[in-house]
Formats: sequence, C-alpha cells, structure tokens
Amino acid sequence: MNHLVALPHHLCYLNGEYLPLNEARVSVLDRGFIFGDGIYEVVPVYGGKPFRWAHHHARMARSLQEVRIPHADDAATWAARIDHLVNAHAAHTGQRVGNIEQLIYIQITRGVAPRDHVIDPQLSPTVFAMVNTMKPPSAEQREHGVSCVSAHDFRWEKGHIKSISLLSAILARDISHQAHAVETVMFRNGHLTEASSSNVWVVKNGSVMAAPKDNLVLEGIRYGLLEELCAQEGLSYELRPIRRSEVFDADELLLTSATKEVLPITHLDGQAIGHGAQAGRPGPIYQRLYQAYQKVKQ
Ligand code: PMP
Repeated sequence: MNHLVALPHHLCYLNGEYLPLNEARVSVLDRGFIFGDGIYEVVPVYGGKPFRWAHHHARMARSLQEVRIPHADDAATWAARIDHLVNAHAAHTGQRVGNIEQLIYIQITRGVAPRDHVIDPQLSPTVFAMVNTMKPPSAEQREHGVSCVSAHDFRWEKGHIKSISLLSAILARDISHQAHAVETVMFRNGHLTEASSSNVWVVKNGSVMAAPKDNLVLEGIRYGLLEELCAQEGLSYELRPIRRSEVFDADELLLTSATKEVLPITHLDGQAIGHGAQAGRPGPIYQRLYQAYQKVKQ
C-alpha cells in the first residue's frame, strides 16, 4: 500500500528549502533515523504568532549544545521560517491564520554519515520544520479533568535534553494508553519526575509545586510560564523534590505542555485526587491558572 497518497502536502522546511511535506526526503543514513541522534522542539502558535518563541529557541540551543550538534540559526532566522510555514499551512487548510491554533515541530539531527557511533564534528545537521493544526484537550477533559496512571520512571538520566530518542517516552505513554488514561505520571526513587510528555504539578494549601529543574526532567516552557502566572495570581510557586505520598495527597494535580496548556488530573491510579467535595473534580487553582493562561495567549 502506498501510504504517501494520504500524507499531508502543505509546505515544510528541509535543509534550506520549502517543499510539500509528502515530498520531503532524508537519507536512510541520517543519524536521526539510525541512532535517534537529534533534538526537537514543539511550539504552539496562536493567531499566527509562535507563543514564547524566545524561550523555545533558547531551550533548543541548550539541547543542541548538550548533544554537540553545531547549528547556529538565530531566533530571528527561525521566526521568519516559522512565519512562512504558519501562513502556508493556514492557506492550505483554507483558514485565516488569526482564527486557528497551530503547532510547529522542529527537528535537527546530526546529519548523514556512514553508520558509526563516533561523533564527527564536521557533519552538516539535517534541519526540518513543519506546522500542524493544534489538537487541544476536549471540552469534556477541561470540564471533568483527566485520569492518569503512575509508573516507575525507567527513562535515561538526561531527561533535560529534548532528544528525538523517544522510545522510553513512548513505552511510558503506552502504560497509560493501555489503561485508557491520558498520561503516565512517573516516579524515580520515590520522587515525582514528570509525565511521558508533560510536566506534573502538585497543588497543596495554595502552593503550586513541581520537581526541581534537573537532569531528570524536561524543563517545559510552562515551568517559567507557570511561575509568572502564579506571581500574577498571588500563589506561591516552589520547585523541590516531591514524595509519592504528597502526589496522592495533593489538593489538585495538574499537567502542563504546549498542547495541554494546563489540564487537571482528577484521578491517579483510580484514586480521586483532592479532598472532601472537591475530590475527583478540577479545583479552583486549576481554574485560575487556566484563565490566566488564556489571557496571556492573546
Ligand atoms: N516533559 C516531557 C518529557 C515532554 O516531552 C514535554 C513536552 N514536549 C514536557 C515535559 C512539557 O514541555 P512544554 O511545556 O515545553 O511542552
């Protein structure tokens, strides 16, 4: 069967060229394909503008530096590229760019070379970007919250790099998928790390907390954003090691990511989160952070 027929054909960017997505090609010897040797970024676009782009570009630069891939296109060069793709995608879907929410995916691999684990610093990276329509959480999920399951965090110890080697994240996500749940909340040595593709927040006594920004978690762009929104809302914000028992005893639990924005976890391993009449329902801090988030998006 020829799968290409069904692939989208709006414009993407590959190594200096714009071309239809279904025609873009990379070599089978690309180290991204052979080793998962590369990094990526996912950026939300509201009203045609990438949201917190400077933060995403800075994280991309950090990932590149960590894995020693030389790629120096600056934030302005990338912003122009993104603008082109975002407008082409909107035109392709027949919608006005101001009326849709989109998602940019950027991937940079170490490049094409004969298969060898050794890093050759002379290689030219493979640089790719595409735009898709954002698929936000449903109204039902926003109203009732979502169920998650917990698991041991079996991923590697360089979780701070936004690596395209995502097999461990995919296997982690499959644990919750098999259980008909939305995310897998992970613990390492009895402490909360994050979920398979989201950060996890514990709300207790009006304080909003998450795991420290170390090598065991990806620092979501929403780490900084939630810090700002908490300051605006007069909520205390704290990053510290969080024990498993504190997660299950939370007043509220939240997920954050580019697509989920901020989303309430109302059940974990089948247990209702929260206390009293509030148990198993999205809480007041979620509502405040969600509203504040919607304001800063505009
Ligand atoms: N942790 C992991 C492991 C992720 O993959 C993601 C999303 N890519 C996040 C956290 C959330 O990051 P962001 O808020 O930048 O989407």
